[in-house]
This record gives sequence, structure tokens and C-alpha cells, in this order.
Amino acid sequence: MLLGREDGAILAAVPAANVHPRPERHFEIDPAALIATHRAARAGGLAVLGYYHSHPTGRAEPSATDRAAASGDGRVWAIVAAGEVRFWRDAQSGFEPLPLRVAAG
Ligand SMILES: [Zn+2]
Repeated sequence: MLLGREDGAILAAVPAANVHPRPERHFEIDPAALIATHRAARAGGLAVLGYYHSHPTGRAEPSATDRAAASGDGRVWAIVAAGEVRFWRDAQSGFEPLPLRVAAG
């Protein structure tokens, strides 16, 4: 999960278990971790701005599976593959590339 401020700055990436029965092809964030993080956000913690996952053998762009799973909720998806991280917005009309970059610190 990608956590950050309401202005869109992502400040933390929190790992969560992939509980999908076929984790090599799909991902489903551990619901308990998701609920706990949303609860912490409501209590004044960082907001859940998006999610990240990797494509061990693919490219850093949304796969057909990702497009099928997308909800169009506007959150950021970071996809790690082939030594890079690329960012996408899960928009109503589909994934849009974002010009975000990874900063140190
Ligand atoms: Zn994917």
C-alpha cells in the first residue's frame, strides 16, 4: 500500500501479503492489513493513496489482469518490473500514466 498526504505526496510504502490463491499471476491485498491501514488513516494517520505490486517477468505497466481488477477509484498504482517503478492512476476511463518520480529520503 502507498500511504501519504492528501496533497498526493506518497511518503511510505507498506508491504502487505498477497492472499490471492494464484499469487504468481494475480494480487489481492490481505484484507486485514487493508482494513487496519484505513482505520489508522481515519484516526489521523497517512491516507491510503494507492497500491504497489511487482511484475516479476513482465513490464512496469498495467497488465490485462490489472485492468480487469481496477475499480477506477482514482488511486495510484505503482508497478515494479525490470528494474524500474512506474506510476499509474486508476481512473474511470482506464489507467493513466503519472509523471511521478521516486525521490530519496
Ligand atoms: Zn500487475
